[in-house]
Amino acid sequence: MHEKQIEEVKKLLADSRNIAIVSHRNPDGDAYGSCLALSHLLKKLGHHTTVVSPNDCPNFLKWMPGQNQIVIFEEQTEIAKEILQKADIVFTLDFNALNRVGPDMEKVLSDIDPVYIMIDHHQDPDQYAKYSYVDPNICSTSQLIYQWTIQMGWKNYLDKDISTCIYTGILTDTGSFRFSNTNGDTHRIVGDLLDLGVEHTQVYREIHENSISRLKLLGKALKNMVYLKEYRTAFITLKNYELKQCNYQKGDTEGFVNYALSLTNVVLAAIFIEDKQQNIIKISFRSTGDFNVNELARDHFNGGGHINAAGGRSDVNLKDTVDNFIAILPEYKDSLLACHE
Ligand code: 5GP
Ligand code: MN
Repeated sequence: MHEKQIEEVKKLLADSRNIAIVSHRNPDGDAYGSCLALSHLLKKLGHHTTVVSPNDCPNFLKWMPGQNQIVIFEEQTEIAKEILQKADIVFTLDFNALNRVGPDMEKVLSDIDPVYIMIDHHQDPDQYAKYSYVDPNICSTSQLIYQWTIQMGWKNYLDKDISTCIYTGILTDTGSFRFSNTNGDTHRIVGDLLDLGVEHTQVYREIHENSISRLKLLGKALKNMVYLKEYRTAFITLKNYELKQCNYQKGDTEGFVNYALSLTNVVLAAIFIEDKQQNIIKISFRSTGDFNVNELARDHFNGGGHINAAGGRSDVNLKDTVDNFIAILPEYKDSLLACHE
């Protein structure tokens, strides 16, 4: 955040405020990591803060410090509305456009008039926030929360709970420190977090432990994997009945797409998942090197994200969605073949 903004935000936060902290729909480790870390921090500074999430998180996040106090808009709509309407300040974390909270909550956010503060690491942020701290070169919003805390001069407030939340966001958004968004600063920050008491083996276990049904679903996903050698592309499909057969729980497919990306020679990977509840196909894209899936997801699948990790959706059925995907590959063939892994 620029110096001038820092000074203004410091002034704004000099008195006790009602603050809502909002995550994106389908919250991941970084969304909840950043929201909860900020919430713990602001509470210590004497503010009334509540994290409001559009919908619930996967089970593998249901241990995070403060997670059980998050208000879920989809389930507690009236309470969530009241909190948002009473807020002097609304922080929006880990997303770059208000529509990422879903249409119902977006409407509430558009109708209120608090001071919006955006902290995020996605490209092309919408301009709704009075203050923003956006850096797409940083691996996670959680790392930005750490950096912002230091900029604000509040390093001494960091404690084990805050550190655990920040660590979780960094861990999940870097794929356990293996993605190219990880750098020296990330590791130096993680060093500080461990010194503050983060139990990293425990966090890793909570995030990555498997149920038997998830592993069976992974088996199906791998069976369904298609490798298109001529496009250096691999993709996975999962039909609704396959999810049901494996007693699908929210979050079970997290990380599956990375198996497609791990294939030798592959630079573009995708997973297409039939979502009968929303009546859409939910898509995740991953890439290596300079192949930009943010653009691909934006241009063809109503989505977006980062250069190497993006998401999107399709309103036609699974087969047609996959056919559409295959049909656009010739457009990208040259860049796929030229891509350095
Ligand atoms: P995932 O594939 O894990 O759902 O998401 C990968 C990245 O793309 C995340 O940073 C996520 O925030 C972003 N993303 C996922 N779905 C969408 C979407 O529908 N629209 C946009 N703009 N970004 C998305
Ligand atoms: Mn993130």
